Amino acid sequence: MQALNASSKLTRGVRLMSAPRLMSRRMAVSVRAADEKPVALVTGSSRGIGKAIALELAKQGSRVVVNYAGNKQAAEEVAQKVTEQGSEAMVVGASVGKRDEIDRMFKEVTDKWGRVDVLVNNAGITRDTLIMRMKPEQWQDVIDTNLTGVFYCTQNALKMMGKQKSGRIVNVTSVVGLAGNAGQANYSASKAGVIGLTKTVAREYSGRSITCNAIAPGFIASDMTAAIDKKYEEMILKGIPLGRYGQPEEVAGLVRFLATDPAAAYITGQVINVDGGMVM
Ligand code: NAP
Repeated sequence: MQALNASSKLTRGVRLMSAPRLMSRRMAVSVRAADEKPVALVTGSSRGIGKAIALELAKQGSRVVVNYAGNKQAAEEVAQKVTEQGSEAMVVGASVGKRDEIDRMFKEVTDKWGRVDVLVNNAGITRDTLIMRMKPEQWQDVIDTNLTGVFYCTQNALKMMGKQKSGRIVNVTSVVGLAGNAGQANYSASKAGVIGLTKTVAREYSGRSITCNAIAPGFIASDMTAAIDKKYEEMILKGIPLGRYGQPEEVAGLVRFLATDPAAAYITGQVINVDGGMVM
């Protein structure tokens, strides 16, 4: 009864504002024009999984921000491919672990396109070694890029998405964030941290129709896995029920679904593995 009274007071308050005025105030912050393509920012999209995600989102119809850390030429080639697919791209160099660079990147994007509909936190690095040999810099570099970078980008994106009252965030974590891995204390900790961050953002922003999910790849063919010593490959493949590495496009398909498909609107706070059955 009390709740009913409270809501009728609220309704009376709203009635004071004429319906068209109320609607135009809402539209100013939240509604994307029907002919306006969504804006998707993919961190670390100059190569590997991020590149496949950028191209998949462009194919689906998004304008894409191609972010890179040092490899400008590769990022420009990805942007060129996005354009060839009939969409628009902008290339922004910014290191995710540096607050000022990330603030600048989001400013450039919102100055140009005025909104951010999708954020894919994909950029990541490894500095593998056993924990007893791990130097503080090896620990810190990985935490700064893989975890703090996700925090900086997410906070910036939420400023826009919160106003829009819509948005989708997809974080690329790893199965080692769930299971741990010898030689990857820094990386596993960063990826486990991303999972906690994902679930917290999902809870804090569910009221504004913003979803936040994580994808946990297993072994995916990219420069990152090309660096693995070949002598371990047979052992790795034995641990993958499907018996092969995944392809970046096999991660990108799930990102596209979570980031853009209306059917994914009710999925939030989840971690979904793309790992050929490695961890189950
Ligand atoms: P990758 O081939 O090594 O590519 C890494 C990408 O991240 C590049 O575009 C790189 O940009 C960018 N990057 C690195 N540091 C950055 C920074 N500080 N700021 C902005 N961008 C930065 O890696 P990948 O295999 O595609 O991995 C992508 C993501 O998937 C990572 O988060 C990784 O941890 C995760 N993952 C990968 C696997 C796998 O098997 N490959 C498995 C599980 C999870 P530049 O080109 O400019 O260097």
